[in-house]
Amino acid sequence: MIVSNQIKCKWCGDTPYSTHRHHMQYCKCEKVAVDGGPEYLRRVFDSTKQFNDDLYPYEDISITAPDSSIDALAAAVAVALERHCNARGIVYAVLRAIRDEGLVTEDGKEWESNLIEDQE
Ligand SMILES: [Zn+2]
Repeated sequence: MIVSNQIKCKWCGDTPYSTHRHHMQYCKCEKVAVDGGPEYLRRVFDSTKQFNDDLYPYEDISITAPDSSIDALAAAVAVALERHCNARGIVYAVLRAIRDEGLVTEDGKEWESNLIEDQE
């Protein structure tokens, strides 16, 4: 499923995101747009205007994950809320769920494993 439908414009650095179907959002310089919300990943840009030699003038920073992964994270949050955890406690519960479930993105990559490794 599409969790976050978002791009980063290589021209201006803006990071527009689309929250629902037919919610097309342009970046600040209006060279790229994102659309589709959680329904589909649509990008709009003038293909004759490349940023440097890049094929696409944006970086896709969307988040996609299998439904089962989202269910596992939601279950971890539900438990944390039952235990009256504060915001940090909820974040820790989510990080533990990512570690324990071996969550992956829809394209099979490990999900933000560097988030956990960066904690010293
Ligand atoms: Zn832009």
